[in-house]
Amino acid sequence: MPKSIEMLLNAGTPVLGDGGYLLELERRGYVDSGSGREKVGTGKGSGQFTPEVVVENPDALRELHREFLAAGSQVLQALTFFGTREKLTRSGYGSRTEDINRHAVKLAREVAGDSALVAGSVSRTQLFERVGRGSADHVRDLLQEQIRLLKDAGVDFLIAETFFHLEEMLIALDCAASAGMPTLATMSFRPTLSQCTDGHTPTECAKAMSEAGALAVGANCEQEPARMLPLLRAMRDASRKPVIAQPAAFQTTETTPCFTRLPQFPDGMETIQVARAEFEKFGEAALAEGITYVGGCCGCNAAYIRALRAGLARAERN
Ligand SMILES: [Zn+2]
Repeated sequence: MPKSIEMLLNAGTPVLGDGGYLLELERRGYVDSGSGREKVGTGKGSGQFTPEVVVENPDALRELHREFLAAGSQVLQALTFFGTREKLTRSGYGSRTEDINRHAVKLAREVAGDSALVAGSVSRTQLFERVGRGSADHVRDLLQEQIRLLKDAGVDFLIAETFFHLEEMLIALDCAASAGMPTLATMSFRPTLSQCTDGHTPTECAKAMSEAGALAVGANCEQEPARMLPLLRAMRDASRKPVIAQPAAFQTTETTPCFTRLPQFPDGMETIQVARAEFEKFGEAALAEGITYVGGCCGCNAAYIRALRAGLARAERN
């Protein structure tokens, strides 16, 4: 039984995380992508990809947790992504904010048992994209509330993920530090690989997140492993903290290196799915690349986590 995330990160071999939840559950019919209702992929959408499946179809979520655990995940992320009160209100579930966050942790914990740690997912609120920097105080209140709910529900640690603005990430890290929660921090790079949305390079993001107290720093979502690797190297070289990588499993392009800006998002994702073999290769390279925590994000089901595991195992044998 892993005792703490700090122990896992210091074990000398990369930690195997889990995969992506919302897109997989959308594919299985349990999550609303917002497609047809609004323009998705702008970061300004209303109720798309929210986690009400936690209370509406808990068995579907439980099953996906089981699949990741069986694939070897050492951490299960509670499905609390986009689980802040304001975002849930936009999907009509604001009054169930406590319920959704609490049940998400409970479900993950039941499946994890003694075999995996449970992380609370804390994501961007979308208010930096929708409203702008003037929303910072509101964002702080929302993230503070969610982090309190996750702490009370008993998560082992937090993963702050899919932030496009470094400024918003730093608010999340500040709230997490005030709550005394160990936190791994991953930015998502959109629309370019060299700068996040508010203009900071991967190097600057890694330094700032480290200084803000993140236990590990890195990137998640938006790119497939091969396209994410160079920015992970930059983050690794800029920080003494462990590096965490949870790439997406979608083929991006030189001109649009982020899948949520491709025309295939969200209705044509099958046509740009990356083969799991790429994740096996990524797992095999992780240790040598100095990546301490590997998992997957959007597009990664249990087969991708098995592939990562096979890659990690091959590297260990060689
Ligand atoms: Zn993702």
